[in-house]
Amino acid sequence: MKKLSRYDHTQPGAIDPAQCNGCGVCMLSCPVWHQHRTKALTYCGRNRAAIGGADEDDLAPSAAACILCGSCEPLCPMGIRTQQSTLALRRNLARRGLLPNPRVARDRKKPERAAASRLIIPGASLRDNGRIISAVLRVLGGEAKLHADDGSDLLLSLEAGGEVSDAQIQEYLAPLEGVPELIVADGLMFNLLYSALPSPKSMLPLGPALLRDPNVRAGIKSTDFYMIETRAYNAHRHAFVELYSRLRRETGCTTNLDLQRVATPTGASCMQHREGLKTIISIEEQVKWLLEGRRPARIVVEHPDDLEAFSRYTKLPVVHLAEVAKP
Ligand code: SF4
Ligand code: SF4
Repeated sequence: MKKLSRYDHTQPGAIDPAQCNGCGVCMLSCPVWHQHRTKALTYCGRNRAAIGGADEDDLAPSAAACILCGSCEPLCPMGIRTQQSTLALRRNLARRGLLPNPRVARDRKKPERAAASRLIIPGASLRDNGRIISAVLRVLGGEAKLHADDGSDLLLSLEAGGEVSDAQIQEYLAPLEGVPELIVADGLMFNLLYSALPSPKSMLPLGPALLRDPNVRAGIKSTDFYMIETRAYNAHRHAFVELYSRLRRETGCTTNLDLQRVATPTGASCMQHREGLKTIISIEEQVKWLLEGRRPARIVVEHPDDLEAFSRYTKLPVVHLAEVAKP
């Protein structure tokens, strides 16, 4: 099992955030900047403050404001892994009780070895949505199975800055070793597994996995607004940008990618929203930003949390990608 370097910027090969040149480019796509215009609450603001000598305590409001959408990461000309850097800061702050008390994973059942040639790791949102699970299983075929342990407790703890040891994560991952194909619905989970599995090439986020089916691609219309799951996409933009460019060319749909091909989030998947914690990000504002200047007839989403966000704040029909497949 690899070391979990993606979540620790002190690991060899990671870019030291101290190399930040303060250009501020990463702020351009940040929902916190878009909604509040407060530099101190952005990655640029807190990182430059840390470089300038600010105490970590002073950075707690900024670390708590971030929704870990990853939209800042692909823009950084220095290649700084902003998402992992913020997670590392949250870990330090949570250890000292300076962030809302994270739920630490405890008493996990001994995981059983997963037996499937194609295993779907659903995350909490997909796990709770029987309608979408049925649609996903219909598209992915009879050999696809849902993994019983979605790992959402580990993810929640990680996102909140809780202590999730390498041993805990490796215990979660052990039964997955040897599964030929993993399909991961939650972007943060995808990023975690990508860092830790010996063969991440056999793994796809749910959206790209569904888009391999021509019937799914045929179901997308030129009048659709297509909502990409941001956390996996932004962390692996180089791997997926061409897939979505082709989708736009072939179908004529619009997407949540900006001109720099960075994915903008609704914010509905963040821990603060899911756990009912205080957040300065308004999902309604995000939805308005995403649809500004566009007049789609329908919204197609990859992540179940975005279904709820668009359903609540628009009058448009909203469907999951798995549901658009033409028979
Ligand atoms: S991860 Fe998202 S919310 Fe956090 S600083 Fe980056 S762009 Fe802003
Ligand atoms: S884009 Fe990168 S180098 Fe520029 S301010 Fe942000 S973190 Fe620093």
